[in-house]
Amino acid sequence: MKALVFEGHGGVEVLQYRDVAEPEVSPNDVLVRVKATACNYNDIWARRGMPGMSVIFPHISGSDAAGEVVKAGSEVRNVQPGDEVVVHCGVSCRNCEACAAGVDVFCREFRIWGFQTGPLDGAHSELIRVPAYNVLAKPKNLSWEEASSLPLTLVTAWRKLVTRAQVKPGDFVLIWGAAGGLGIMAIQIARLFKARPIAVASSDDKLQVCERLGAEFLINRKKQDVLDEVRRITGRRGADIVFEHPGGATWQTSVQAVRRGGTIVTSGATSGHEGLTDLRHVFFRQLNVMGSTLGSKAELIQAMRFVETGDIKPVVSEILPLKEAGRAQVVMENSEVLGKIVLVPDGNGSH
Ligand code: NDP
Repeated sequence: MKALVFEGHGGVEVLQYRDVAEPEVSPNDVLVRVKATACNYNDIWARRGMPGMSVIFPHISGSDAAGEVVKAGSEVRNVQPGDEVVVHCGVSCRNCEACAAGVDVFCREFRIWGFQTGPLDGAHSELIRVPAYNVLAKPKNLSWEEASSLPLTLVTAWRKLVTRAQVKPGDFVLIWGAAGGLGIMAIQIARLFKARPIAVASSDDKLQVCERLGAEFLINRKKQDVLDEVRRITGRRGADIVFEHPGGATWQTSVQAVRRGGTIVTSGATSGHEGLTDLRHVFFRQLNVMGSTLGSKAELIQAMRFVETGDIKPVVSEILPLKEAGRAQVVMENSEVLGKIVLVPDGNGSH
C-alpha cells in the first residue's frame, strides 16, 4: 500500500510517497481503507520536530480519517467489515482511573494517534490499523471528505468551549484563527450555545466565511487593533472567553482582552510556545487560564450529534491527492488555509 512517510525532521521535502507493508490486525483492532484524511497542524509539528516530543520514525502523519472497515480483529464487536467510520485519534490505556472515569485525556499513556504514535501508523495512508474503540459511525449526511475533516478539530474545540470554558448563552467568545480548523468549529459551537462569537482572521475573505458560519462580530487582525475592537464590541467589559491557540504572538492581547473573572482556554502555540503574562492581570482581574488538549470519545460523540442534525458543518476548502500533502502543509504554514484541506489516497478514490 502507499503512504506518506518520513524518516527524519525537515521541510516538506522529507515527505516520501512510497510503498509500505500493510498493517497487521490484532484481536481488538480494525483495518480501515482510507477514503479521505484531513491535514492538521500536528502533521507540521511532527515533520518539523517539536522540543520535548520525540517522533517515532519511520513516521506516517495524519490523525483524522474516514473510510470503510475491511477487516475486524477476532474480539471486535462494535463494527464489522463494510461499516463506514471515522477515527477518534485519542489513544490511552483504557484501564486506569482516568480512563475508567471517562477522562482518558488525563491517562498517563494518552497519545494523539498519528502524531505521538508509531512507527508507520498515521492516517496519511491507504490502509490504517486502529483500535476498534477508536472508530465511530461516519455521519450519513456527509461525504467522505467532509467526514474526515472533522474529528480532531471538532473534539478539541468542543472540549475547550463546552467542557473546559463552559460556554453559556450571551457569552462573548473571542476566537483567534477563526477561519482555521479549530476556529470554524469554535464559531459553530459558540452559536449552538447561543453565545456571541467574535471572529479574528487575517483577511476579509476568511471573515466572510466566519460570518456565514455564525460569527456575530468580525475583526481583521491585519487592519484593525484586536484589543480596541474587543473593547468596543463588549462595551469595554472584555470577552467572557478567549479561544486561544496561536500562542506567543497573541497571548498578551488575549490576557488583556478577557473580562474580569473571564476564561482564556488554550490548546496551541502556532506562533511560539512562550507567552509573556503580566501576572497582575491574572490575580487582580481574577482570570481563569486553562489548558485543553483533544477530547474524549464521549465528547466527540456528543459533538457529532450536532453534525448529524446539520448544526455543525464541515468546511473543506481543498481536496488534494495524498501525495500532495506537502503542498497542503505549506498553505497551512503560511496561514492561508480556510477551513480544512483534505487528502485522498490515489487508489481509494472516494467517488
Ligand atoms: P489552522 O492552520 O487551521 O489555523 C490556525 C490559524 O491560526 C490560522 O488560520 C491563522 O489565522 C491563525 N494564526 C496563525 N498565526 C497567527 C498569529 N501570529 N497571530 C494570530 N493568528 C495566527 O490550525 P488549527 O486551527 O487546526 O490549529 C491551530 C493550533 O492549535 C495549532 O498550533 C495546532 O497544533 C493546535 N491544536 C492543538 C490541539 C490540541 O489538542 N492541543 C488540537 C488541534 C490543534 P489568521 O491568519 O486568519 O488570523
